[in-house]
Amino acid sequence: MEDAIKYAFDFERHMTPEKFERFKAFAADKETPFVVIDLERIAEKYDELHRLLPYAKVYYAVKANPHDEILKMLIDRGCRFDIASVFELDQMLRLGAKPDDMSYGNTIKKARHIAYAYDRGIRLFATDSEEDVCKIAENAPGASVFFRILTDGSGADWPLSRKFGAHPDTIYRLVLQAAELGLDPYGISFHVGSQQRDIGQWDHAIATCRYLFDSLAEEGVHLRMLNLGGGFPANYVSPTQDIELYCQEITRFLEDDFGDHAPEILIEPGRSLVGDSGVLVSEVVLVSKKSEFNQYSWVYLDVGKFSGLIETIDESIKYPIFVDRESDAVKQVILAGPTCDSMDILYEDTKYEMPADITEGDRVYIFTTGAYTTSYSSVNFNGFPPLKAYILRE
Ligand SMILES: *Cc1c(COP(=O)(O)O)cnc(C)c1O
Repeated sequence: MEDAIKYAFDFERHMTPEKFERFKAFAADKETPFVVIDLERIAEKYDELHRLLPYAKVYYAVKANPHDEILKMLIDRGCRFDIASVFELDQMLRLGAKPDDMSYGNTIKKARHIAYAYDRGIRLFATDSEEDVCKIAENAPGASVFFRILTDGSGADWPLSRKFGAHPDTIYRLVLQAAELGLDPYGISFHVGSQQRDIGQWDHAIATCRYLFDSLAEEGVHLRMLNLGGGFPANYVSPTQDIELYCQEITRFLEDDFGDHAPEILIEPGRSLVGDSGVLVSEVVLVSKKSEFNQYSWVYLDVGKFSGLIETIDESIKYPIFVDRESDAVKQVILAGPTCDSMDILYEDTKYEMPADITEGDRVYIFTTGAYTTSYSSVNFNGFPPLKAYILRE
């Protein structure tokens, strides 16, 4: 068992008290649970990333939060988009995004979905296997392709390892194969794992890319692009380094490995752009004790693993949680969701401190819930509707 988190909620780390009052007032008359999204915050995050990595093209990973208003705002700001399916593609086209500003970043796709995307103008695809390269060559002839290398995801709170990417030797062969099949071998990509705490992981991955660029150049294949993926942090309970340091270090790694001959650079942020913008408003349904000798109370909320908080699996992502109740005493609690499924426990090894007199009906504000919540919410488990989202307005 881990030590309890002694998490004294610190507004300074998240938002000004004035901003929180705006969230609270907006949320006051609405039935919980729901997420409130602050579009201004996302715009600030986007502008910040642009400022810190001016040479990089930003492809927002739509899956992190595919709310129409977020996507429209990012289109207006000149963002590009990484899509995972033809359904996201249709949504982006409906909102007015241009096919040239999108990449089909999922390495797992049906042949007819590749054809569908190609038909609608998509010319940039990610791949990591021989079969997929063949499918792309057949259904998207001449398209540009980038090749995803495997990373082990260590250092990341949400690793994304094993399932995607291939060993550099395999990638080397795939690039040659793609060229033979008439595709345009455009670049290499990786994802170091989501909410990556160890900036050094980019160093290692960039060095591997450099090696592939060089060895393929010897075969006459000149790659032109490097896609640094996502992995940039949002502001959860465990602090990370500042985004400034991430960008500064990544720039240094690129200079060390590529000098003046840097290829075109792409990044695919999801979590870091939208995570901090969201506050999930929830309500206590029940507080109980399993036995009078048990040290811990159980606090059941009206949100859980099936209504948007799936990233609490293995307690991987620890959300900052604020209970709106003035109280002198605190106690450590086990937090769980409302469904009839015993895996619907949010935090058990990690004990959150809550007001000692927390009770049914108390509003609970779960911060940093702008990423991977609504898009992960189940549709109808136990009859509960999917997690709602509102855009913060005056
Ligand atoms: C999910 C995903 C991202 C976004 O990652 P974050 O860690 O949320 O920034 C980027 N690229 C690809 C290919 C992804 O699958």
